[in-house]
Amino acid sequence: MRILGLLLFLSVTMGFSQTSDKQQIRAIYNSSLTEGKSYGWLNYLSNQIGGRLSGSLQAQLAVDYTKKQMDSLGLDKVWLQPVMVPKWVRGTPEFAYIENQSGMTNNVPICALGGSVSTPGVGIKAAIIEVKGIEELKALGRSKIAGKIVFFNRPMDPTLIRTFEAYSGCVDQRYSGAEEAGKLGAVGVIVRSMNLRLDDNPHTGAMSYGDLPVESRIPAAAISTNGADLLSTTLKLDPKIKFFFRQSCKQYDDVESFNVVGEITGSTYPNEIMVVGGHLDSWDLGDGSHDDGAGVVQSMEVLRLMKVNGYKPQRTIRAVLFMNEENGLRGGAKYAEIAKNKKENHIFALESDSGGFTPRGFSFDSSDANLERVLTWKSLFEPYLIHVFEKGYSGADIGPLKDKQIVMAGLVPDSQRYFDYHHAQNDIFEHVNRRELELGAAAMASMVYLFDKYGILPN
Ligand SMILES: [Zn+2]
Repeated sequence: MRILGLLLFLSVTMGFSQTSDKQQIRAIYNSSLTEGKSYGWLNYLSNQIGGRLSGSLQAQLAVDYTKKQMDSLGLDKVWLQPVMVPKWVRGTPEFAYIENQSGMTNNVPICALGGSVSTPGVGIKAAIIEVKGIEELKALGRSKIAGKIVFFNRPMDPTLIRTFEAYSGCVDQRYSGAEEAGKLGAVGVIVRSMNLRLDDNPHTGAMSYGDLPVESRIPAAAISTNGADLLSTTLKLDPKIKFFFRQSCKQYDDVESFNVVGEITGSTYPNEIMVVGGHLDSWDLGDGSHDDGAGVVQSMEVLRLMKVNGYKPQRTIRAVLFMNEENGLRGGAKYAEIAKNKKENHIFALESDSGGFTPRGFSFDSSDANLERVLTWKSLFEPYLIHVFEKGYSGADIGPLKDKQIVMAGLVPDSQRYFDYHHAQNDIFEHVNRRELELGAAAMASMVYLFDKYGILPN
């Protein structure tokens, strides 16, 4: 009888625990979907402030705005972390055309890649040579490349269902194409936009010259996918065509900016810190609604959802709005540096930086033991159609926090439409759906709640 009684007691308490987790998560979702603030915050960031490139006035306005909003949530602490960031400015709108023969031209949409040098004021006109990647470029060698513009035209692989894999599969052209072509004496680089569909929007993004000396640095721009197809076809008809482009971007000295941090201090284990974050900077062509305004407002919403539900976390929860993910990652590095200097113990970090689309699940970078335990929570998410719980990548900004014990995670939204907008002028507020954004915030808050309640397993 006594054993039976104990079993009964255990089943009731364990059952109760599941029920209360279920109820807590239901309450989080209800708040997010009925009186959520994420969409309103995103509206302001996107439409009142706009694109927030590091070092810009808009980036500073975004720091001020999000700090003020977090100040209004009744958190235990809100503060700014100073960090020096690069300041690159696009200048006047870029211009490009294909010249079939003297006086016969077709304009094509381009945009300078972030960090690129400008062309001379009169632009560059030269023969252009198409390659599918850096290997092909190297195989052609200096004799075929010197004096020409190199056109990198390897498209994203449409058969990959995980579109981030398709992105990873060709982003080396954008990041290192100018460095490699510069070494072979090219005069400029044009890169097919990282976009799965055919349209007229060029997509910018970070590039690097590595340690190439200043005199070998050549201007680099992205061309829209339609423009890339036109250029490729025209080249097939006549390899002797010329390409013209002009851009006036410029790199200035670093300037001071800030990470914005809000905290609810843990009641029982204040030294066990959980971070939920996104990046406050964005590219400048659109207003950065998906990348990463969505992650910013969802992270703020996680804290707000805890407060409005009267949930008092045992562990410390911080929303961190990182500065300068796009062209430097200085904010992520600075946050981790300060955490290390203060010997802070971070147990969990969750980033949302894959767009504000319908959440499908989470990707975890953790020990197998912690991943196994997370899998026991999977059924709690099933009513919300959150099914993906997998080992994988977490996020760029939280990356520097990685150590042996921390559990890192990334929100995994549906990714099929992300690269329609990523780093392009159409990454704007109207392309974010309110419910999808709110469902993401609720999924994140639910996961943070579970880590708060159960902590992590030691390694
Ligand atoms: Zn991003």
